[in-house]
Amino acid sequence: MTPKEIPCRIHVLSPATVNQIAAGEVVERPASVIKELVENAIDANARSIRIEITSTGGTVGTLRVIDDGCGMSAAEAILAFTPHATSKITTLEDLHAIHTLGFRGEALASIAAVATVTLTTKPRASGAAAGTRIVIVGGVVRETAEVGAPEGTSVEVADLFFNTPARKRFQKSLNTEIARIHAIMEGICLAHPGISFRLFHNRAEQLVTDRTSEALDTIARLYGSETANTLIPVESVLPFMAISGYISRPSLSRKDTSRIYVAINGRYVSSLVITNAVKAGYATLLPKDRFPVAFFDLRIDTALVDVNVHPTKKLVRLSREKEITEAVRDAVRSALLCHDLIPAAQAPDSLPVQEQIFPGVHEPTPEYSLTGPDPVSVSEPTHAGTALSDRRLRQTELVTGLAPVSPALPPLEVIGQFGGIYILATTGNGELLVIDQHAAHERILYEQVARWAGAELRSQELIVPTILHRSPKDAAMLRELLPALAEEGVVIEEFGSDAFLVRAVPVIFGRLEGTTVIDDLVSDLVTSEPARTVTDRERITRIIACRGAIKAGTVCTQEQCQRIVNQLRLTQSPFTCPHGRPTMIRFSRAELDSMFKRT
Ligand code: ADP
Ligand code: MG
Repeated sequence: MTPKEIPCRIHVLSPATVNQIAAGEVVERPASVIKELVENAIDANARSIRIEITSTGGTVGTLRVIDDGCGMSAAEAILAFTPHATSKITTLEDLHAIHTLGFRGEALASIAAVATVTLTTKPRASGAAAGTRIVIVGGVVRETAEVGAPEGTSVEVADLFFNTPARKRFQKSLNTEIARIHAIMEGICLAHPGISFRLFHNRAEQLVTDRTSEALDTIARLYGSETANTLIPVESVLPFMAISGYISRPSLSRKDTSRIYVAINGRYVSSLVITNAVKAGYATLLPKDRFPVAFFDLRIDTALVDVNVHPTKKLVRLSREKEITEAVRDAVRSALLCHDLIPAAQAPDSLPVQEQIFPGVHEPTPEYSLTGPDPVSVSEPTHAGTALSDRRLRQTELVTGLAPVSPALPPLEVIGQFGGIYILATTGNGELLVIDQHAAHERILYEQVARWAGAELRSQELIVPTILHRSPKDAAMLRELLPALAEEGVVIEEFGSDAFLVRAVPVIFGRLEGTTVIDDLVSDLVTSEPARTVTDRERITRIIACRGAIKAGTVCTQEQCQRIVNQLRLTQSPFTCPHGRPTMIRFSRAELDSMFKRT
């Protein structure tokens, strides 16, 4: 056979086809078009950006982004639609110092390949009388003209995906698309408080932010000033990065991470490592399955940030990731440490009658609800009607010398105990605190176990070691945890197949009556899912604190209550138990007066 007889199956794709294929990576849906166009406007140094969406019959019609940025000359405008044409980088080295949102030169070419695009532009301060209009349909230039135009750029996208029917069929409902556009715009607005954004859908204004130098103004604009006012500022400057942001108090939390906004060098990104670092900063202030609301603006040395991971640039790769995440965690932690975190009782008139009488912890629900509906529930040991021995309480007293220099709580005077569960106390300035005795004691023990210095302090040998039998599966899990348990003062040895010998327990357990406490502790350990964000030692510490703490239903004398309250004052984080539930709720005199209609 001569080569001529074989038909050649391979050919180079036409530029139009190449662009349509490439478009799939950048332009997935209407929201990606908005993102790319708005980012271009930001890169053009726009001060105000207007987004207009029209829809008819349940589908997106046109998308238009208008900016007052630098604009383009006629020659630039044509080039802008050529694949890999960009004004933002020249060589690969430039990528290591990228200060713009775009740099791949793909977006306009990709969008134009799958839609009808009309670009109208005029360079800023050029003195030119006319601007340029270009119409491109499916990648083919249909019209270029001189037109009267304001300075800046307007890009209108119509008939999106008209020539890629598979992609078009794949589109979700109009509401879903609009919601995605909102989500993207929120991230962009938060990352750029210095730009004013206005978003319209069928001429109805849907989102507005004003130019401001204060990120908090933008947060208030988007989520309500009530939420914004409860946030705590976070500020930290390191040689290679600057952190600024706002985080929620532990009383405002969510069931997922969707309200943790992170901008790195002006780019709204999704970063699991940063999100985890923020959560880690809360340590025990939040339950493991709850997440804070947080807004971060991170300025990181551009050499450490690789944004060229994915065409949409939503993901970033960080060099010196460990230092960066630790800095974020520490900044969150210290911001929380210097704020008063006691949840206040809710104002009465907004609550149902029953809750007016028994106020609980309520999360504010602004227009854009930041909070999940699911309440935090933690099972805790209860113990009806037993009394607490002074000896037991003394054994659990905080080791001195570890107390914070300036306690977060003012001195408290105990009034009494209620229901064997709550300690009632007053502060000097006329506030009433209702304190959950189990949660409070748990916090005290937790900090003790976590901070105790010498191992001999933690552990007491049992005169008669007790034997534990476990199922093979539990035994296997327990075996893994033995070294970590020993570190925390629980000394357990293997004793034949699936049996264990308990030799020593933490001092805070007091004199053991039977093996129940230790048995419960081991059960907690093997049954609770190992949490991703928490180490085994941390888990063990929390369980020891929970099992060692006085139970709800334990009757305490006034002196004993006072002791607990005094110890609580000496802890670093007196406002929540190690599971993140509140230890106390506060009623101010004014709030009580208003509940009794005395105002
Ligand atoms: P990239 O943003 O990655 O450079 P694009 O395809 O999004 O690629 O845009 C190509 C070029 O067109 C940009 O580099 C920029 O010079 C120009 N451009 C796009 N949009 C605007 C705009 N709104 N204002 C001014 N110039 C723009
Ligand atoms: Mg771009």
